[in-house]
Amino acid sequence: MIQEHSHTLLYEEGERIQDTGDDIVIVIDPGHGGENLGAETGKIYEKYMTMATAEAMRDRLSDYDGVTVYMTREEDIDISLADRAEFASSVSADYLFSIHYNASADHNAWGTEIWVPLEPPYNAYGFQFGSVWLSEMERFGVFSRGVKTRTGKAGNYYGILRHCTKKGIPSAILEHCYVDTEGGMCDDASEYKAMGEADAEAVAVYLGLEEGPDIPAAEADKQVASTLNMKTDPEICEIVDVNADYDNCELSFNINASDSDAVLSYYQYSMDGGASWTSWMAWPERNIYTLQAAPLVQVNCKVPEGMTPTLVARAYNNFDVYTESTPVYLNTFGKWTEQASVPVNSDEKDETSDEISGEDLQSSTVSEDAGMQDRQSGRTAGYFILFGGLISLVVLICCIRGMLKDRNGRK
Ligand SMILES: [Zn+2]
Repeated sequence: MIQEHSHTLLYEEGERIQDTGDDIVIVIDPGHGGENLGAETGKIYEKYMTMATAEAMRDRLSDYDGVTVYMTREEDIDISLADRAEFASSVSADYLFSIHYNASADHNAWGTEIWVPLEPPYNAYGFQFGSVWLSEMERFGVFSRGVKTRTGKAGNYYGILRHCTKKGIPSAILEHCYVDTEGGMCDDASEYKAMGEADAEAVAVYLGLEEGPDIPAAEADKQVASTLNMKTDPEICEIVDVNADYDNCELSFNINASDSDAVLSYYQYSMDGGASWTSWMAWPERNIYTLQAAPLVQVNCKVPEGMTPTLVARAYNNFDVYTESTPVYLNTFGKWTEQASVPVNSDEKDETSDEISGEDLQSSTVSEDAGMQDRQSGRTAGYFILFGGLISLVVLICCIRGMLKDRNGRK
């Protein structure tokens, strides 16, 4: 079980805590292998991607004097997590880096994250390496989901971290990007290789062999607060400052949210009361170390003529836990309808759901400071056209069915 440790929130510049000595042994663990395929992109299995990245990391890291590099597997074979940790122990590894690419069940998450052990001092080692690694990964324009821990029944949820910690080997799981939603970022062999080289450079910076990003302060005997998953949802998520221009079919509103023990990471909203949602969009001005983020997101969007939206929003933290706002009921948009000018804000219904329902709608937002604006804007126009088209189609089908029924009735 996990012991209770005091934890502090530190993010000023610090020194590396881990003492590796002069002869440094690094074990690179290409995730998956053999029958264990890992995530798939539709083109390639994760087990091949992790190998390409691991080989580039090994080659680059081998350039440094005083560093001996091993890999847990060099072939496409199945190895248990316990055996990977056992191998690291057998060569007296100073650190095991497990190489992975990510995917989410509902294909909505995106970004880069690193999983580290819960237990001191490995938690602090992981935090210090992880922050350097995330800085190095920024060259790929990644969205940082942070240096994180995940608790399972037996301590660390992830087996490789659990087994390494048991054997006294510092370890981390490097999740480079999501293969299912970030195809453009981790799509071909040159990118797997470039990421492996960046991994090697992060290790070199961490070890003091290379100049690079600052190492944040941490204490060996304490867990780093920003790494801990409190498993709580954001305390606040509400829709405010709704401004509906019914004549011109324009809508603007703010999503106001806060989370005291994790960093806000994404938002999404629904115009039809939660039946369908936009994709996850980046929450602006995040800091994965201080856990601070912008207090609100501004959304401006077009509403299809004739639509009577029920607006709902969700704010997610970097552990993908969300809070859903109460719905805001609007009037029908479009010149041809009679309008009340003020939207009706109701707190009566709370349609909180544990699952993300419906198809992902394409984003229709133009958020002023959302970091990934460019990424989203390409998808923008299609949704409302699609929506209008769908409604027309449904009406048409109903008409035809009605006509057929009439004809059948006459027989
Ligand atoms: Zn994996």
